[in-house]
Amino acid sequence: MCTPQQHPASARTARTGPPPATDRRTVLKVAGAGGLALTFSTAQGAGSPAYAAGNRDRRRAYVLVVDGCRPDEIDSGLMPNLAALRAGGRHFPRAHSLPVMETLPNHVMMMAGVRPDRSGVPANEIYDRALGETRTMDRPRDIRTTTVIERLNRHGFRTGTVLSKDYLFTIFGERATHRWEPFPLLPVTDHAPDLFTMEAALGMVEEFDPHLVFVNLGDVDRVGHSDLTGGSLQVLRRAALVSTDLQVGRFVSMLKSTGRWKRSIVVVLADHSMDWSRPDRVVSLTAPLADDPFLAGKVAVAQNGGADLLYWTGPAKQRERGVERMLAVARATPGVLSAHDRARSPRLRLGPNAGDVVAYCRAGWRFSDPNVVANPIPGNHGHPATRAIPFFIGGGHPAAAKAVSSTLATTVDVAPTIAAFFGLRGAPRGGWDGRSRI
Ligand SMILES: [Zn+2]
Repeated sequence: MCTPQQHPASARTARTGPPPATDRRTVLKVAGAGGLALTFSTAQGAGSPAYAAGNRDRRRAYVLVVDGCRPDEIDSGLMPNLAALRAGGRHFPRAHSLPVMETLPNHVMMMAGVRPDRSGVPANEIYDRALGETRTMDRPRDIRTTTVIERLNRHGFRTGTVLSKDYLFTIFGERATHRWEPFPLLPVTDHAPDLFTMEAALGMVEEFDPHLVFVNLGDVDRVGHSDLTGGSLQVLRRAALVSTDLQVGRFVSMLKSTGRWKRSIVVVLADHSMDWSRPDRVVSLTAPLADDPFLAGKVAVAQNGGADLLYWTGPAKQRERGVERMLAVARATPGVLSAHDRARSPRLRLGPNAGDVVAYCRAGWRFSDPNVVANPIPGNHGHPATRAIPFFIGGGHPAAAKAVSSTLATTVDVAPTIAAFFGLRGAPRGGWDGRSRI
């Protein structure tokens, strides 16, 4: 969890109305179904005749992220709309999230098409060496590459973001032509309920008809994280699955009733899945690191639920020995699955923002730093147990024709898939890290 100081956007939870947009964008307030107030902001120039004439392509792509959904939950019988969408489309049953299995890095990978060593965003929480403190990666400039959103914009395509979580809204910033400002935000998770998010997605399609709309639905994740009552967890989680599935069903119905279905693909996936830990299965590395005479006072910890990122803050010439000690301390701590020398683990592809050592917890455990009470929530992700995700491409466009593929699709495949769907030429310098899945 973030402190208010680390996460200025959380102050918005107390606001009584949607925030004002910046001067560079115009604001449109729309009444959604049931009188819900929706606030959209639009990039200046997007309404000009030149822009409108720029691209008359009738294809549409929608990316719906069911945050924190496990693939088996689609088969639970509680999600018939998602199951039907999957059954009629291209299904990737072996799909997985990428390290660190957290929300921000995987949403950024979806739109950037490159891994965190190139996108700049390896985790939700990092230790910012320039600031000398841990912080959430929620700033637009944290994304250091060009996303497929901006690539589409350059070709005159309209783009939209409907992101339920405040930190997703802030990190993607003003990249999309049209964006919804999530409201109302619930406390703790800083996310808007799926009912509101889906109203916004429907309203955005109706008002602006973007070629690409990127949607995050946060309820399934929220229930996994914030409920502490054990026995009722399953009930609430099941209720969230049913409710989110209904919202997706509304979106599909809209596509069919407005004639968009035949020219659309609907990419559905999760950013990570979810794992639950018992109260006694908590790993806190801060104390054992501080107890080590060599490491004391020379390590910063960025806790990410199922993963801890450890940063050497001592003298540079002692870094190598520091990394060895951090690895040894982490590996000797009960509940730790593995610890990795980040710079010598090229397959992690996390980049220096992820620090020097990446530690994963075992299934059924969680990290809690700086102390054992810092992370009281049972549902966590970020570790390998939360790697499997649903991933399928539905829709009436031939690109979404029914198929099952055993390839290892990942979150980083979304951007190249969108680029291929719209026939965008070119790729990021150095190429995509993912592959088109159509
Ligand atoms: Zn997430």
